[in-house]
Amino acid sequence: MLNDVEPHVVLGVAVDADATTIKKAFRRLAMRWHPDRNPDPAALEHFKRLRAAHDRMLGSQDGDDSENGEPDTQEESPSAARAESGFPRGADRWQELELSLEEAFSGCEKQVPLESVVICDTCEGSGRIQLAHGRLCQCCHGTGRIRTKGGLVACGDCGGRGYSNQAPCPDCDGVGTRRPARMLLVKVPAGMFADEELRLEGKGEQADSTEGRPGDLRLRIRLSPHPLFRLDGRDLLLERPVNAFRMLAGGRLVVPVPGGTLEVDVEAGTCESRELRIEGAGFRGRGARPTGALRIKLHPVFPEAPGPKLMALYRKLDAEIQHDIDTSVPQLAEWERTWLSAL
Ligand SMILES: [Zn+2]
Ligand SMILES: [Zn+2]
Repeated sequence: MLNDVEPHVVLGVAVDADATTIKKAFRRLAMRWHPDRNPDPAALEHFKRLRAAHDRMLGSQDGDDSENGEPDTQEESPSAARAESGFPRGADRWQELELSLEEAFSGCEKQVPLESVVICDTCEGSGRIQLAHGRLCQCCHGTGRIRTKGGLVACGDCGGRGYSNQAPCPDCDGVGTRRPARMLLVKVPAGMFADEELRLEGKGEQADSTEGRPGDLRLRIRLSPHPLFRLDGRDLLLERPVNAFRMLAGGRLVVPVPGGTLEVDVEAGTCESRELRIEGAGFRGRGARPTGALRIKLHPVFPEAPGPKLMALYRKLDAEIQHDIDTSVPQLAEWERTWLSAL
């Protein structure tokens, strides 16, 4: 099935093209069709076809008399169909960028590993290197034929010869591409949110030709879960235990915010759980979305083992309340009047 189109048609070169032209054409097309770079489901098949065409054209130049398949040019090859004028831009590249909540909240600078794929220099993207001596083809075990659903066909790896003077490229493990470790320092603005995108112009894939502009790098933000803070839209939520007497008496309270602390006012009230809401202290707004609120759920906590000093204060407090019962707890005063003095 790799032999149904003439190799020079697949590569889009003249039938008598020289080795340099063949290699150049292959390299250009391999950049476009390598399955690591091209999400098209047909990319892998076409890449294999390119590689077979490259091998066969170079092979026949070395005086090899390998058999070519029947010429069949009815099916126009994608490379011929895609002859383009001008210089097409490189592809955009999508990557995920995981941020801690603190990093997203305040903005940060991040070292981002670039996963960009480049064609292997050693084998020029073919995934194979030439050996001085031929050896038995690993794919067809020397038979020159492989079994497919459609019956026996010529082995694409050795072009049906059964032996091959090629081996997988040691520098890219026969893949034809490499992912060199490169880091990019990225400035992340404050308030980036999960699933939002940070676009870095010109940091995507290289164009096929040196004249074409590279594509963009598009970083999709992911927020790692936080042990204290949760998000509700752009509102920042947290739960905070509070001394119950602070909730009764009111006062200042220090609360954590991503990357620091904030002092807030607690109004005097009952000591039941309640929510404090600080407008504008949540996630910074971006575009049409307004800045969120900081919402603090307060949970009253009483002393578990009050010491003698605290017990003395409790007793004093109790006596004081009892003394002033008509104004401080009128409900209790009414109950006591009804049920203690009348009976
Ligand atoms: Zn290689
Ligand atoms: Zn073979």
